Amino acid sequence: MLNVPSQSFPGSSSQQRVSSGGRSKVPLKQGRSLMDWIRLTKSGKDLTGLKGRLIEVTEEELKKHNKKDDCWICIRGFVYNVSPYMEYHPGGEEELMRGAGSDGTDLFDQVHRWVNYESMLKECLVGRMAVKPAFPKGMLPKSQVTDPLAKEGPSSPSYDWFQTDALVTIVIYTKQKDINLDSVIADHRDDSFRAETVIKDYSYLIHIALSHEIQEDFSVRVVENVGKIEIVLKKKENTSWKCLGHPLENHNSLIPKKDTGLYYRKCQLISKEDVTHDTKLFCLMLPPSTHLQVPTGQHVYFKLTITGTEIVKPYTPVSDSLFSEFKEPVLPNNKYIYFLIKIYPAGLFTPELDHLQIGDYVSVSNPEGNFKISQFQELEDLFLLAAGTGFTPMVKVLSYALTNIPSLRKVKLMFFNKTEDDIIWRSQLEKLAFKDKRFDLEFVLSAPTSEWNGKRGYISPALLSEFLKRSLDTSKVLICICGPMPFTEQGMKLLHDLNFSKDEIHSFTA
Ligand code: FAD
Ligand code: NAP
Repeated sequence: MLNVPSQSFPGSSSQQRVSSGGRSKVPLKQGRSLMDWIRLTKSGKDLTGLKGRLIEVTEEELKKHNKKDDCWICIRGFVYNVSPYMEYHPGGEEELMRGAGSDGTDLFDQVHRWVNYESMLKECLVGRMAVKPAFPKGMLPKSQVTDPLAKEGPSSPSYDWFQTDALVTIVIYTKQKDINLDSVIADHRDDSFRAETVIKDYSYLIHIALSHEIQEDFSVRVVENVGKIEIVLKKKENTSWKCLGHPLENHNSLIPKKDTGLYYRKCQLISKEDVTHDTKLFCLMLPPSTHLQVPTGQHVYFKLTITGTEIVKPYTPVSDSLFSEFKEPVLPNNKYIYFLIKIYPAGLFTPELDHLQIGDYVSVSNPEGNFKISQFQELEDLFLLAAGTGFTPMVKVLSYALTNIPSLRKVKLMFFNKTEDDIIWRSQLEKLAFKDKRFDLEFVLSAPTSEWNGKRGYISPALLSEFLKRSLDTSKVLICICGPMPFTEQGMKLLHDLNFSKDEIHSFTA
């Protein structure tokens, strides 16, 4: 389905691939990159065949458009003619055809819920699905007039509010024990206040147009043992509020996280430092009107408008250095987020990021990802397999494990790169390995110079079986793997061949 080439790159003809020693790759057609697609959508060509007219599409009509050269797909009630997009779809035409003539929302969500198809496909919009009247005119379906909270999943949270002369406190009762400051993402924008609480795989939303003005900043407290969240807003004027405000979309609802859209806020670029010849450390500052902490192992999405089209790509926050996570405690109101980002000169998104000036803004989403801290429970051996910027999720995982897991005996990182110059934070990693005897480090290079004395080549059974030795036969292990998609897929296969179970492996993907 619709995708931007983040997982499958480097593309066949990219410089990165050319240097790889000619292993077999799926060729991509020239002139069919995302940038080429954007150009086509701006060319004024009629991509729907309807000359800009929007129509109501019945199910019967949708079903008829199920061929490559006449392919309509419905996503969240909107119907797109995706035939012109076929050759540009990085996942391939076959993948896109899986949704031909039908509602492709579930398929789309399974693969890349985060892709901003609305913007990328706006010139392909045919119209809306015609709604079947399921209820007599004037009557609402029952679910819209009763409690909007989900009937399945965690028991329904609730909220309340109280005030003093200067403050308004919103209290959320989650009735869960594993709630912490990472669980709450809150934003105050104009007169609306939005607080999303992540409870297992669900999201509980408070979304209100406040009755009175408040100051920009606010604070969030969590009483962990009872799962109570307190959000303290500062009134602009010391008057008594009669009500908190009126509900906005999805207020007081508990929705499976997979069904929620991505919410963005603008973050300011504070600094940008070279780390290697092509990788930079970006520091972004959250607005004062946002509370957001990205949990270990999760990523966010950046959104930029590139030649009029909104483009979204995932990035994984790191700490500002490998040692900063050890400086306890990390301030709960930390407003800075750091990212290690490789700039691809021929890429679509990273050159734009690189062109941002200090003080410019980029939109950053709520955190996403399926890594759970509970995977560290009672952990004794942690093995990290990273290739290139696949190192980024390992930064926080490594620091968290060394700082917070008392049972941990060994952490080993095998870091795959092309050359020595490509190794991110090499001296920091070496210093850490020297300082902390639990941490071992192995670099593997695919295109080293003749002076390189270390390991060479690609991920292989021989490299892995030597590296993945448990410190005790019975050790509880976790293996984390991240890198270019084919690297990760090959690594996963090798790990299964080496008899590691699913629970012992975590692969980082979008
Ligand atoms: P792209 O336009 O995707 O191009 C990348 C390369 O492929 C270029 O060399 C380009 O020439 C080549 N290419 C693209 N299209 C074609 C084509 N059709 N034919 C031939 N060659 C082609 N990256 C980081 O640097 N840091 C992170 O922390 C990070 N975190 C991530 C987290 C997740 C969950 C995922 C999935 C990815 C992450 N990435 C990260 C990768 C990131 O999302 C982008 O994919 C990456 O920055 C490249 O974006 P781009 O648009 O600049 O390059
Ligand atoms: P790179 O420099 O191109 O590659 C790093 C190393 O991996 C090189 O030695 C490379 O060898 C090797 N390699 C590449 N493909 C391989 C394959 N199929 N089999 C075995 N070895 C392979 O990597 P990069 O440009 O930094 O890209 C990093 C990737 O990680 C991107 O795809 C990015 O999307 C992904 N990433 C994912 C996440 C996540 O959370 N999911 C986070 C960050 C990054 P050769 O180049 O010599 O072939």
